[in-house]
Amino acid sequence: MPTSLQNDIGDRLSQALQHVSISEDAIEQLRYPKASLTVSIPVRMDDGSLRMFQGYRVRYDDTRGPTKGGVRYHPRVTLEEVQSLAFWMTFKCAVMDLPFGGAKGGIALDPKELSKLELERLSRGYIDAIADFIGPDVDILAPDMYTNATIMGWMMDRYSTIRRQHAPAVVTGKPLTLGGSQRRDTATAMGAYLAIATIMGKFSQKPNQTTVAIQGFGNAGAVLATELAQAGYKVVAVSDSQGGIYAKQGLNIPSLRQYKEANRSMKAVYCQGSVCNVVEHEVISNEELLQLDVDILIPAALGNQITGENAHKIRAKWIFEVANGPITPHGDRILASRGVQVVPDILVNAGGVTVSYFEWLQNRSGLYWRGEEVSQRLQERMVHETECVWSLAQEKDIDCRTAAYVRGLQRLGEAIVAKGTRDYYLS
Ligand code: NAD
Repeated sequence: MPTSLQNDIGDRLSQALQHVSISEDAIEQLRYPKASLTVSIPVRMDDGSLRMFQGYRVRYDDTRGPTKGGVRYHPRVTLEEVQSLAFWMTFKCAVMDLPFGGAKGGIALDPKELSKLELERLSRGYIDAIADFIGPDVDILAPDMYTNATIMGWMMDRYSTIRRQHAPAVVTGKPLTLGGSQRRDTATAMGAYLAIATIMGKFSQKPNQTTVAIQGFGNAGAVLATELAQAGYKVVAVSDSQGGIYAKQGLNIPSLRQYKEANRSMKAVYCQGSVCNVVEHEVISNEELLQLDVDILIPAALGNQITGENAHKIRAKWIFEVANGPITPHGDRILASRGVQVVPDILVNAGGVTVSYFEWLQNRSGLYWRGEEVSQRLQERMVHETECVWSLAQEKDIDCRTAAYVRGLQRLGEAIVAKGTRDYYLS
């Protein structure tokens, strides 16, 4: 994983650089993370023993504002991976025109092996270790894989204790009672829905004629499936880590969610009251889901799902990336040669960081917004930036991923030049 993500940085940058003219200084600056911190975190375990954990925080570029990015708990977290994810965050914030740079953090561990108390001590220990590297005006944390609102609450509390002041804006994705924002939990899915509806609305094909397959039925995938089904799209297949289901006539998503919550497994069902009846469906593997003949495929689970190995088997016409990095650069090239349209993660899943920005604004002003206000502001920004990326792609005859990177590069390049480069001083 780290290797392909590293290659990804060079690949995405050089693709975009063919279509935008920015200063050499800016390009050179964007090739390297601004600061990378590696820490060892001592944790007293429940049995009294001491265990050391390796943690990271990378601030990739802060030209456009304080850096912003999630904290990931996963056994495969490495410094290289965190650097690549921080690079993506830099571009995601620039594409959405948020006044933030990009960052990421992580701890190498299997969170399922720790008790809740051990997890709390570790999360607080991480903040002890990186407290001088972060802050509401410096670097702002958020949840990522295997971290959640509860963990964000512990981190914010620890940071406030160290600083001897209330500092809610150092972390977003907090519980509502600790200064979290309304609708942060559904923001990624809502943003993805708005990106899909904006782009698909440009074509004559109606939602009820449009079939959709979604890999991943978690926070992002399940909420997005609900939104799409409500808008009339025909969601014919979904999957989780156990595998997937397919029903040609379309799945009843609310019933499916109800069944999955009650039984922890997936079946195509129709529920009335408390009774669920199984509807005819096929059980499929995740690999089969990716290869279904559908209009829209939505990877919303893991990275590196569509690669040089399976890209030639993809039959979907459109792919909207909700997961971070679900398609490798090699997979991307094969899909492009076969005419599959890909709309990239740095646009499609940016609803989460956008509402995180709203949370930061609310924390700093002390004025909290109603849910409708959050949704309306998210809609305005998401639709506007999607329209801009789409227009740029048409204007320059390039794919949407390259267009999104070009847009991010333009904004980053202008900001770096405005701070003063060699060209600026010589001209
Ligand atoms: P989640 O943990 O809530 O859900 C992940 C889902 O993927 C689960 O249903 C899980 O069963 C499924 N899954 C795991 N392995 C799988 C496999 N091999 N095949 C199919 N499904 C599998 O996570 P989430 O918050 O929904 O995030 C999903 C993706 O979206 C991640 O890549 C994440 O980085 C990205 N993302 C999420 C957010 C957010 O705010 N939630 C923001 C930006 C990006």
